[in-house]
Amino acid sequence: MKLCRFNGGRLGVVEGEQVIDVSVVLDALPTMRYPFPKHDVLIAQLDALRPAIEQAARTGQQHAVTAVHYDPPVANPGKIIGAPINYKAHAQESAEDKNIGHGRVITSIGDWGLFLKAGTSLIGVSDEIVLRFPQRRNDHEVELAVVIGKTCRQVKSADAMDHVAGYSLSLDMTLRGPEFQCFRKSIDSYAVLGPWLVTADELPDPSQLNLWLHVNGQTRQNANTRDLIFDVPRLIEFASSFYTLQPGDVIMTGTPEGVGPVVPGDWIEAGVQGLGTLAMRVAPQYA
Ligand code: MN
Repeated sequence: MKLCRFNGGRLGVVEGEQVIDVSVVLDALPTMRYPFPKHDVLIAQLDALRPAIEQAARTGQQHAVTAVHYDPPVANPGKIIGAPINYKAHAQESAEDKNIGHGRVITSIGDWGLFLKAGTSLIGVSDEIVLRFPQRRNDHEVELAVVIGKTCRQVKSADAMDHVAGYSLSLDMTLRGPEFQCFRKSIDSYAVLGPWLVTADELPDPSQLNLWLHVNGQTRQNANTRDLIFDVPRLIEFASSFYTLQPGDVIMTGTPEGVGPVVPGDWIEAGVQGLGTLAMRVAPQYA
């Protein structure tokens, strides 16, 4: 199933060229009082709600996939986790280009660990990326994103896939520079997720997916998830050895080689095999 959020809070199922409005299902979510949970309550209920979603999709209002505004498919991820230097060729380009590495010694993801992106950085594919700091380099990073479906901690990689709700296309937009990643990569609009969530049953094997990114029609990145250094199960094992993972947590699995700068007015097109595509404008002015 392909699930999207659209037009400011609507829930949709994507079938072929249609987005079918199944927002009626949201009424089944539990009414809550403060303090609210730290996870995404829709993703937490996704398995339970699935029959109702399928039922609603039979009669829901239809929109063309090209005619809706896509919000991020996960409304409230408790964490957006990033994976640095997780493709060998990207680790190499980071070591060779001082404008990427900024004097850091590029070692390995196992030594560096993971990083977090602020929830306030999250946007959907119909929004604009708004760059900051005109004097500095702002880069695109296309990535496969994993959405966690069940709470887990210290999970082994052999069991990791049981905790996945689904997958999405993501951009880990990055300001290059000397600060920590969590700071540079958490600027508003620097985490793109969408256009929709593809549930894990529809994409049982995320380990051989083409992913690509073009800027103004020119190919910048073109790779395959088979070249991930820490694959999806290992990333879940690694992340959950430090964090409790909760429904709706997003793991951006790392970018392949070919990262490069974008400037205001650029058009970014990107895709991950089986997960859809995006075409986004970089806003014409710096914020
Ligand atoms: Mn990245």
